[in-house]
Amino acid sequence: MTDKPLTVRDLIEPAIMKAGGWVNTHAHADRAFTLSEKVLEIRRTYSLQQKWDVLDQLKRNSTEEDYYRRFCQFFELMISQGVTAMGTFVDIDPQSEDRAIKAGLRAREHYQDQITVKFANQTLKGVIDPEARAWFDRGAQVVDIIGALPKRDERDYGRGEEAFDIIMETAKKYGKMVHAHVDQFNTSDEYESEMLCSKTIEHGMQGRVVGIHGISIAAHSQKYRSRLYKLMKEAKVMMVTCPTAWIDTRRSNTIGLSHNSMTPVDELIPAGVTVALGTDNVCDAMVPWCSGDMWHELQLLATGCRFDDFDNLVRIATVNGRKVLGLIPYDKKAAA
Ligand SMILES: [Zn+2]
Repeated sequence: MTDKPLTVRDLIEPAIMKAGGWVNTHAHADRAFTLSEKVLEIRRTYSLQQKWDVLDQLKRNSTEEDYYRRFCQFFELMISQGVTAMGTFVDIDPQSEDRAIKAGLRAREHYQDQITVKFANQTLKGVIDPEARAWFDRGAQVVDIIGALPKRDERDYGRGEEAFDIIMETAKKYGKMVHAHVDQFNTSDEYESEMLCSKTIEHGMQGRVVGIHGISIAAHSQKYRSRLYKLMKEAKVMMVTCPTAWIDTRRSNTIGLSHNSMTPVDELIPAGVTVALGTDNVCDAMVPWCSGDMWHELQLLATGCRFDDFDNLVRIATVNGRKVLGLIPYDKKAAA
């Protein structure tokens, strides 16, 4: 009998299991598995920023039971792969109101013996609009992590910086971590990771703040990137990468550096920044192509960033995720 051919997966996955199993640090489980012809049409015809609002109808029409079913499906998909801890954003806003989070809390309780789940509140409507702010404040009390999308308030009101302050203040008030979507659009005119670090230091939140995506970092010059990595270390800001979610960024005719539309993990890790892995949206209008497969995400990260450091890939998939979710302290050295 011939031996089974050896793959990289055979080399890495056992180490991931040994290090406590996969950790999926970023998702939107409340909107997962909502694909339909109509939803795919939204995907084809609207920009991301338009989709923030086009999703309203789907959210408004979702009952607590719809949300509960999606959470359960998501948790089961994770458990089936050996995911032992995960974080998911949950829409708590004028459209979803508290139906999604109520369903999430019930589903979490149901699966508590199989997977640790942390919730963050999604702020698709920002924190400046008074109605959205009221839901943000309500959500902040219930969730484990304060979630953020400062770009929304920058786009609508030119008040992104104020949004960062509101989010940091709220996190301090409740003693919770911050997870903020930053630098998503792969352009060199975004500086949100830098702003996140400055605000972290200003509010004394070092070691408790996480940036989600950081795609645009790679669009900046090497000098800027080096300065930013130093600042990230000083602020102890961690970064979550969700490779499939942004690899489909549209081609642009802007002349710039040659790079993939990905978080530059190959530079962040050597610079001493903690990086963790997430699926982000799974089978929905935002990211129909992501099926929530953790191995696929790690493989895309490794190939897209040409990052062959197996020990660190294992950490990214496991202990770093636990740090990002606040399950182990930022300063605790990885056991793996
Ligand atoms: Zn997200």
